[in-house]
Amino acid sequence: MPSIFSRIIAGEIPSYKVAEDEHFYAFLDINPMAEGHTLVVPKHEVDYIFDLSDEEYAGLHLFAKRVAAALEKAMPCKRIATAVLGMEVPHAHIHLVPINKEDDMNFRAPKLQLSAERLAQIASAIASKFE
Ligand code: AMP
Repeated sequence: MPSIFSRIIAGEIPSYKVAEDEHFYAFLDINPMAEGHTLVVPKHEVDYIFDLSDEEYAGLHLFAKRVAAALEKAMPCKRIATAVLGMEVPHAHIHLVPINKEDDMNFRAPKLQLSAERLAQIASAIASKFE
């Protein structure tokens, strides 16, 4: 059975898309730690990021770098933090989180409750800066 992220990429489940190319897809995390919290995934479904081929692994990170640049322009912050966990969704993904202080990247903290309208606004702001 395809992962929830494969279903998002296929358009079967909606997402707040930020960027896409032939091999990779970026969209807002639905339970964000910060405004602009984005997930970057390979379209090729592989559970564990270190099981990606060298080419896919490098490509995913290069794509994430471009998404991070757009994120930084759209959501002013001190840094874009990155993390890979994969404890919940078995489809490799990189978390990109705009942070101003260490505590902003805290997977245990209560998540933000953002309206659908605000999530759409954020996604569109990031997408407009993606190059
Ligand atoms: P982890 O696998 O531990 O890296 O966590 C998976 C992340 O995916 C969590 O931050 C979830 O909020 C996020 N997530 C799960 N389902 C969706 C979805 N349908 N759309 C966007 N983000 C999701």
